[in-house]
Parts: sequence; structure tokens; C-alpha cells
Amino acid sequence: MRTAVVVGAGTAGLAAAGALSRSGWRVTLLERAERIAAPPTAVVLWPNGLRALQSLDPDGGWTAIASPLPDGGVRRPDGQWLVTPRSRTGAGPGPAAAHLEDVYDALVAGLGDVEIRTGFEATTIRTGLRSRPAVSDGHSTIEADLLVGADGIDSRVRAAVAPESVAVGSGFAAWQAVIPGFRVPSTAEDRCPGGETLGAGYRFVAIPLGDHAAGRGGIYWVATAAGAARPESAATQLTLLRRWFAGWHEPVGALLDATRPEDLVPQGVRELRPLPRAYGFPGGPGGVVLIGDAAHAMPHHLGQGACLAFEDAATLRAVVADAEPGPDLVAAVENYSRVRQPRTATVVRQNRRMSAVVQARGRLALRARDAALNHMRPRMLARSLDPSHDWTPPE
Ligand SMILES: Cc1cc2nc3c(=O)[nH]c(=O)nc-3n(C[C@H](O)[C@H](O)[C@H](O)COP(=O)(O)OP(=O)(O)OC[C@H]3O[C@@H](n4cnc5c(N)ncnc54)[C@H](O)[C@@H]3O)c2cc1C
Repeated sequence: MRTAVVVGAGTAGLAAAGALSRSGWRVTLLERAERIAAPPTAVVLWPNGLRALQSLDPDGGWTAIASPLPDGGVRRPDGQWLVTPRSRTGAGPGPAAAHLEDVYDALVAGLGDVEIRTGFEATTIRTGLRSRPAVSDGHSTIEADLLVGADGIDSRVRAAVAPESVAVGSGFAAWQAVIPGFRVPSTAEDRCPGGETLGAGYRFVAIPLGDHAAGRGGIYWVATAAGAARPESAATQLTLLRRWFAGWHEPVGALLDATRPEDLVPQGVRELRPLPRAYGFPGGPGGVVLIGDAAHAMPHHLGQGACLAFEDAATLRAVVADAEPGPDLVAAVENYSRVRQPRTATVVRQNRRMSAVVQARGRLALRARDAALNHMRPRMLARSLDPSHDWTPPE
């Protein structure tokens, strides 16, 4: 039986482990934490991510856990429209938002016969053209035909196969929170059709999760500010956020007021520079592949990280579907890299353009940004800035 070891049980690793297991692989999933647990946030599933999930697990119940995302447009802090909301055109699923815990639950439910080993921190990765890939935590070593590096932005697997690619700060910090439905103030509920607001170096995105989202509802928000991660306590950071976003149109203030320090998930935003030179590294009867943030971590401006991870998993499943260990699987590992590299490089480029929009500060830069945004919407909806548009799962 073909064997795979997947390092990391985040969205990428869970999706890949389940997909390989359901295709007849014997899979071991390694996670350094003591239990598999989602951060208490939410995620936007763009059409590419939804298509990938649907192809990975048609019975995953994705539409049951995700609420359609309204297009709330883009505003300035004073409430003036930069981009007015438009109703969506085109066929196929629109974007949807889901509690990340629900996404993890659905992915865990799809793991089937995967052997899960938590509390296993991969410290040593063995690769080589002639040897089977292997991973060790210093106590035990696990070999497999295929080693999948899904261990996030600080990936140990990537460090072994693509050391040229390192995580660097993107010049932003981000704060996320989900305000549970029962705590959403009625003023915020009325005034939160969803949407984003752009200030000078600051951005606030609010997304209603709706009753559809496993009946839990609530509102998810993400604030971004130029600068590094803050060292203060969550309570102090919340106070800072309330100060920075004071005077912004509602419901921004109401949502920050309704947020508790324990809801807050602060982090410095980082990205990989450069991207790894490849995502597939042949070795022994198969080799090593990188997926998710381990392969292409980028700032969250386009909200594509998890969606690309699901694309990676769907592509990996397809390219290794009929590959037996040996030359076939080696070729599949190379093929995975050939397919995923250009796709993710394009999204990274689109994301950098969006970084410039979010980072704009100073009167002239803001005027130029606002003028550009006024003209950008039709193009944003078209292919140039919408990476979710044209991706379909490989057969
Ligand atoms: C503010 C913000 C908003 C975002 N919004 C969106 C969005 O709306 N839509 C979207 O698609 N994406 C979004 N993203 C991006 C998305 O969250 C990430 O791209 C995605 O979670 C990456 O998943 P992953 O499984 O690759 O990595 P991770 O989630 O980092 O998972 C890696 C796993 O590997 C484990 N691990 C790490 N090292 C080891 C080791 N040595 N041994 C064993 N296990 C290990 C970790 O414990 C972890 O469980 C957002 C990101 C941010 C910061």
C-alpha cells in the first residue's frame, strides 16, 4: 500500500491527509500540538477554495457551514463609498464565510483511516535522491513514499528542502475576532452588511457569519495596521484598536466595543521571500511536497491562504491518484510542483498589489489610491485581481 506522512494538521494538512486516505493511501498525520484545534477565527472561502473542498470531499457539507458573503463594497473611514456594493454576477458558487472551527471539524470528519499522532514535533527531515523520505521528532522516525510538508510558515520541512525561502515580516500587524451571535449589539447587526473600510495605513473588514454558519452566527472582523506585532496584552491592544479606529463609520466602533480581550487573535503578518524554487522534491520512491503556508505564505489581503491550501491538496490528490511508488510517483511529485508554482506565484503578485493599496499613507498617496479604487472595481471583478475566478480542480 502507498504510504504518506503529512507534517502539520492545519487546514492544508487536514485537507491533504483526508484526500490521500480516501484515495487509498496509508496516511500518518503528525501535529506538534497536543490536540488538533482551529484558532477561534473565521475564514472566507472564495469560489476556488469552495470548488477545491467540494472536489476533495463532496460529502463535506461545505455549504451547510458557510454563509454567502455579501458584497459590502469598500468605504472610507468617514463612510463615503470608494467602491459601491454590487450584486454578484456569473455562475457557480459565490464567496462564503465560515467559522474556522467548523471548517476544521468538517476536515477532521473526513480523515477516515488516517493515523493521527499529536504531540509530535518534526525536528529532522531526511531527504535524498536515493532514500525514502523520513521525519523524526528525535525519538521516533517515520518513513513513507511521500512526505507532505504542511507545517505552516515556519516549516521544518521547507527548511530542509528549500532553505532559500524564509519568513519575513510584511510590515503589518493583524487582529481577528469573532463576536458570537448572542453578543452582537443590535446596532452592529443592523449596520453590518459586511464590507471593508480603508484608512491611511489601516483597514477594517467586517463579515456577518449569519445563522447559516452552523446556526452559530456572529460577526467576524479583521483589522490591519501598518507596523509590527504589538507586545502588549490583549486588553491593551484592544484599547489601542478602539483608539486607532475611533471616529470610523459604524459598525466599526460598535464591533470593537463588543469585542472582549479573549476574543482577540493578534499577530504580525509575515510572508515567504523568495517563494521556494520548487514545491516538489523527488526522493527514493516518491519524494517531498510542500503545501499551504509552508509553500507560499503571504499576507492576508486577498484572503487566499487557506483557499490555496485546498487547491494544493486537490491538485496533489489528482496528480498522485494513479502513481505507484517508483518513477511514476517521482514524476507526480515533479508534476505537482510544475502545476502549483505558476498559480501561486500569480496570486502572490496580485496580493502584493493589494498590499500597496492597504499600505497607502499620506495625502497624495491616499488620493491616488481612492481614485484608482473608484476605477478598479470592474477590473477587480474580472480576472486581474480576482484569483478565485478561474481555478477549477484538476481531473
Ligand atoms: C488575518 C488573517 C486573515 C486570513 N483570512 C483568510 C481568508 O479569509 N481566507 C483564506 O483562504 N485564508 C485566510 N488567511 C490565511 C490562512 O489562515 C492561512 O493561509 C492558512 O491557515 C494556512 O494553513 P496551513 O495549514 O498551511 O498552516 P497553519 O494553519 O499554520 O498550520 C500548520 C500546522 O502545522 C503544525 N506544525 C508546525 N510546525 C510543526 C512541526 N515541526 N511538526 C509538527 N507540526 C507542526 C502547526 O501546529 C499547525 O497545526 C488569513 C490569514 C490571516 C493572518
